[in-house]
Amino acid sequence: MAGREIAVFVNVFFMQFKFILDKRIVHVKSIRGLLSDNKSRGSLCGYLITNGLLEIYALIDDDLDEDEKIKTLIHELCHQIFPTAHHQYIYDLENILYKRFSNKQRRYLLGKIPRTSYYVRYVHIGKNSFMKFSHA
Ligand SMILES: [Zn+2]
Repeated sequence: MAGREIAVFVNVFFMQFKFILDKRIVHVKSIRGLLSDNKSRGSLCGYLITNGLLEIYALIDDDLDEDEKIKTLIHELCHQIFPTAHHQYIYDLENILYKRFSNKQRRYLLGKIPRTSYYVRYVHIGKNSFMKFSHA
């Protein structure tokens, strides 16, 4: 695909992310100590709560650096757009979009992650919620 064609797809993704965030379809929360309730799965970078709730929450680990926070938000928003996609595709999209977004687009996404964080020890892993594992 030519660079200009790729740019069209990347910008369409950004417009959709902006719509989801500006219309508060997904609420972003900063969380400290985000851990799975399944001990073998360990700590999480992010988590999307969608199961049966009117409000959808993207939880982002507050201990991540800025680039990892942006990547994790991209990851969780991809889950929102493609709820049945295989996880490997979500990771692939996360990496492609992070690489292709402009600095201005990345700063916008970072600005949507609150500076005030909450402490949550465990999150329930329901059938329609998604999680991203820590690389640590
Ligand atoms: Zn995920």
